[in-house]
Amino acid sequence: MTELAYLVDLPAAYVRSFRAHVTALPPGAVVLDRTYFYPTGGGQPNDRGALRSVGGEPVDVVDVNKSGPSVLHRVRGATGALRQLSVGVEVEGTLDWDRRYRHMRLHTGQHLLSARIFSRTGLRTRKAQLSGSGATLDLEGTLPADALSRLAEDLEEAVRNPRPVKLQHIARADWDRNPFAERAGLVPLPVQVDPVRVVEIESTDICPCGGTHLRSTGEIGRVILQPPVASAGGDRVAFSLEDPSQPTPPE
Ligand SMILES: [Zn+2]
Repeated sequence: MTELAYLVDLPAAYVRSFRAHVTALPPGAVVLDRTYFYPTGGGQPNDRGALRSVGGEPVDVVDVNKSGPSVLHRVRGATGALRQLSVGVEVEGTLDWDRRYRHMRLHTGQHLLSARIFSRTGLRTRKAQLSGSGATLDLEGTLPADALSRLAEDLEEAVRNPRPVKLQHIARADWDRNPFAERAGLVPLPVQVDPVRVVEIESTDICPCGGTHLRSTGEIGRVILQPPVASAGGDRVAFSLEDPSQPTPPE
């Protein structure tokens, strides 16, 4: 079993290196007792980076996936470096921060855009996918022709006048009584999820989510919003980061 340390609170999403212990070595992979590497899921791609035994040689983490209660870190490296990773050994994990931070900017940007689309048009987001320096949102219907320019202004405004992002763990029964439950999203919350990890953009959006998020909408930076494209079930809206390598501000 792997503790998903990146889930605990908002600052945990900004942890770039950490120590943990190896608990299992399935073929080509390493399982740790805890990890800050995000495994592919919820539309957010996996992290990459490196693992090394403390004081040892690094190996590359090329893919990260969930397997039941464990997280598999797929690794590639020199035979000698791989041999240093044995069960019980303490390791240091280092995230490819440029990649992860892009995903955080895209993910918070997606929540913001989904919320703005919902408040302006009543359309909810069926599915969202992040990749590279862009994201796509599949809507449940067709975006009115005049909506795009207003949405682009909304996104700019939320960067100019940043809203804080908050994270809470709420008992399922309390979440189900929440009038805002899943309002902008259509992805059903599995019945066994309790407590619910809730990501809130102040005065803007509240959404159950297991992804890694920014502290503030200001960090999303300028985005380029593409005209919608018709796809099965509704429009697909895409946006990309104008500066994918924008630096991370200090806390
Ligand atoms: Zn999310």
